[in-house]
Amino acid sequence: MFPVGDFHVHTHFCPHGSNDRMEEYVKNAISRGMKFLSFTEHAPLPNVFDDPAPNKDSAMRLEDIDAYFKEGNRLKEAYKDTITIKVGFEVDYLLGFEAETERFLHTYGADIEDAILSVHMLQAPNGEYVCLDFSPDEFGRIIRLFGSIDHVYETYYQTLRQAIEADLGKWKPVRIGHLTLIEKFSKLFKAARTFNDVIEEILTLIAAKQYSLDVNTAGYFKEYCGVTYPTATVMRQANNKNIPLIFGSDSHTAGHVGKGLEQIPKDLPLALPKAYDEKGN
Ligand SMILES: [Zn+2]
Ligand SMILES: [Zn+2]
Repeated sequence: MFPVGDFHVHTHFCPHGSNDRMEEYVKNAISRGMKFLSFTEHAPLPNVFDDPAPNKDSAMRLEDIDAYFKEGNRLKEAYKDTITIKVGFEVDYLLGFEAETERFLHTYGADIEDAILSVHMLQAPNGEYVCLDFSPDEFGRIIRLFGSIDHVYETYYQTLRQAIEADLGKWKPVRIGHLTLIEKFSKLFKAARTFNDVIEEILTLIAAKQYSLDVNTAGYFKEYCGVTYPTATVMRQANNKNIPLIFGSDSHTAGHVGKGLEQIPKDLPLALPKAYDEKGN
């Protein structure tokens, strides 16, 4: 299952994460035999976008960016003989805020070494934005806002399509985050139909763009989900379309680095993000 790396971890700069220091993530990665680690903190939301999460804690603060890069770069240097570290972001795709997102990427693009593009926020039929992975209660409210759970799913996958197709400039992340995050509370809220056909179409789109897929094990450990994002079946479909599969634990605590790697079928090849060359530099 080469490569041994975790390419989706958060830090204490994330307000909904833990206070674990970035160095603890690095130490845990090393102690688990990892050779690569990508810090992908939630990029700051545009200041004209009001964080729809009830705790307004979705992303790191813009004023922390310098400190984030500084610490990441310090660790990169300090541990370079043992592990290759990249510092970047998990960037939100926000429908209607493409220009602001492009501006952010343009400002920091040259410093971003690895990045993921994810959909956590949807626009409801009444125009309001919602954060889909906040809590079961909030997800229940979102379903009422949309009128039906299937409408929430349809909008999620539609937004994902728009994310893949959006022009966010030359620094647009080329890895799609947790493809099936919408399943986070699926043991509580079941869609009436499956979305396999829609997922298949989205994989085709990802393949055509030559993007890669964050194979994200966080969902497996979520109480109301119990499967990876996406499932092993979908990972196989993606692999059949030659989409690179890039492992991410989506850790928000240092102890979770590499967590769930064993949930990815052993016969599926895991890829290194493009940011790393074959020697891992
Ligand atoms: Zn997070
Ligand atoms: Zn995410």
